[in-house]
Amino acid sequence: MDKGLFKGIDADVLTQERMALHTTFKIGGPARFFVVPKDIESLIKAREIAIQAGLKCFILGGGANVLFPDEGYDGAVISTEGLNQIFLETNGLLHAGCGAAISDVALFASKAGRAGLQFFYSMPGSTGGAIYMNARCYNASISDALKVAVYLDRDGNICTLDAASGGFDYKKSPFQTNGGIILEGIFATTGGSAEDLSREMESYEKDRREKGHFAYPCAGSVFKNNRSFGLPSGKIIDNLGLRGYTVGGAKISEHHANIIVNSGNATAKDVKELVSLVEDKVREATGFQLEREIIYV
Ligand SMILES: Cc1cc2nc3c(=O)[nH]c(=O)nc-3n(C[C@H](O)[C@H](O)[C@H](O)COP(=O)(O)OP(=O)(O)OC[C@H]3O[C@@H](n4cnc5c(N)ncnc54)[C@H](O)[C@@H]3O)c2cc1C
Repeated sequence: MDKGLFKGIDADVLTQERMALHTTFKIGGPARFFVVPKDIESLIKAREIAIQAGLKCFILGGGANVLFPDEGYDGAVISTEGLNQIFLETNGLLHAGCGAAISDVALFASKAGRAGLQFFYSMPGSTGGAIYMNARCYNASISDALKVAVYLDRDGNICTLDAASGGFDYKKSPFQTNGGIILEGIFATTGGSAEDLSREMESYEKDRREKGHFAYPCAGSVFKNNRSFGLPSGKIIDNLGLRGYTVGGAKISEHHANIIVNSGNATAKDVKELVSLVEDKVREATGFQLEREIIYV
């Protein structure tokens, strides 16, 4: 099978593309096919072609929450990066293509004097990825602002999901179980001052910079928080003296113990070993089982 498999669709198609180039961890071996559709029709067609050819498929947004294996991905990785349109209706509903960077969406909204998405400014990743993960920061979940998600269901039908109909919870979305591909997010925004929003967003970016989020390649928090633990996961890990602990090139961030960084030539194997080690140490010391947030592909 060569890339001619995807001929006739409007997409860039690469073979043996290293996933390290498309993830914020900068880790991951080659994908057999890396397909970047330029429009929704091409994404739908690319998925159909891959399925008919018996290939497994992975939908990739900004690659900010995933760990690809060192040996690569023997299937088709379909990147949403080309589906990045953003527009605002006069009624304040903001439409963002699944591949639009969520930070760009927040910026677009703020410039138009629309509030609701400012919390996500400077958070890495796409709109589709943020909805899939129900990303959360500065006390806001993306589902708080989401009104409707337009998605492709497993059978290839374009459907809509009303965010108020349920299924969203702390870092949980219906898409984690229903197999749908999010095509567009439609967000409810409220009136705000562009200047105030800009100031607020700068403070979030500054906070992330000061917490070392952009100092090394990483995928953000490795573990979810859990209220019943009484402390944030990062604090529990920190209390065990694991800050700075290293396996190969993977290291627990000196800035924040819930972040693992690629300090040089980390492999997926290094990261997984370090994750297991942290889980074991936390279980031994506290009895708590940490829940992983980053996704192993
Ligand atoms: C420095 C840094 C800071 C971070 N801070 C935060 C934070 O404050 N809060 C937070 O919640 N997260 C944070 N993260 C994690 C990450 O930014 C979020 O999880 C983000 O929402 C992931 O989006 P993505 O597009 O990169 O998803 P990807 O990593 O590309 O994919 C994640 C999952 O979503 C699925 N997916 C992606 N797009 C679609 C789609 N269109 N349809 C269906 N499934 C899809 C993928 O298949 C995969 O299973 C941080 C990461 C980094 C690197």
